[in-house]
Amino acid sequence: MIPQQRIRTRDVTFAFILAFGVAISAAAEAAAPLVKMQAPGYYRMMLGDFEVTAISDGTVDLPMTKLLTRTTPAESKRAYDRAFLKDPVETSVNAYLVNTGSKLVLIDTGAGKLFGPTLGTLIANLKAAGYQPEQIDEIYITHMHPDHVGGLAADGKPVFPNAVVRADKHDADFWLDPKTLAGAAKDDRASVEGAQASLAPYVAAGKFRPFEGEAELVPGVKAHASHGHTPGHTTYVVESKGQKLALWGDLMHVAAVQFPNPAVTIQFDSDSKLAAAERKKAYADAANQGYWVAAAHLPFPGIGHLRKDGTGYAFVPANYSIPR
Ligand SMILES: [Zn+2]
Ligand SMILES: [Zn+2]
Repeated sequence: MIPQQRIRTRDVTFAFILAFGVAISAAAEAAAPLVKMQAPGYYRMMLGDFEVTAISDGTVDLPMTKLLTRTTPAESKRAYDRAFLKDPVETSVNAYLVNTGSKLVLIDTGAGKLFGPTLGTLIANLKAAGYQPEQIDEIYITHMHPDHVGGLAADGKPVFPNAVVRADKHDADFWLDPKTLAGAAKDDRASVEGAQASLAPYVAAGKFRPFEGEAELVPGVKAHASHGHTPGHTTYVVESKGQKLALWGDLMHVAAVQFPNPAVTIQFDSDSKLAAAERKKAYADAANQGYWVAAAHLPFPGIGHLRKDGTGYAFVPANYSIPR
């Protein structure tokens, strides 16, 4: 009897400690749940007298092996392996805000609601960065794909009520033409409709002003034609006090693949041969001159420099810096 009773008592005590211990550790875990959020998506740097803020619209997973052209799945896989990436590749969507001191200029507007639930955070991040949509004076569009113009309008109203919107005439003529929508393949209809709906409130208010080719739009910000990805794709060059930043838009999409091999193209290109030629020119110029570059789909904040590396190029992301 006695030994058995002892065993029972010991078992009960052991079970109690176990249960109590588990309860304590469960309570400790519950006190600090996983946060699962990123830091506010903005990154700021000075460019001469100008303040440049990269604004994140979020990220989207893209099946790059399927989307890339003039390459092979094996070549893409080798490039992802070298970059520790997996397909689908989580791809940033970035916009850039330039405060010249007299004008506040936004370059591209993210996707709004046009490209799924993981994008459309531009306004929240703009506000986190210390600005309000009403303060934007000018919006320069690199091209009218949904992930660049979708943020312009919401429910038929302009998101930036005081802004003038500018884009190359060739993109406007293509995307806003009713004939483009009428002739669009089934898969392309949503993109055309998205572009038209995004621009419509600005067109109606007389606040959409296309330009053609090379133009200085405000002092220190120039449009540079880099047609190919779309008929009017445009790069914007920002310059202050001898410092220069080229905002590339969609001149390239997949850093891991298209820096080592600039000849690789993507299905989104309307003229992939021309797009590749513009990319090669832009890479060579940036590497030779050593100015800053930024692109809409480089990993956020997507700002850095380029240097020649073998037969291709290497991207050197900006060293983390606090403006002063
Ligand atoms: Zn695009
Ligand atoms: Zn894009």
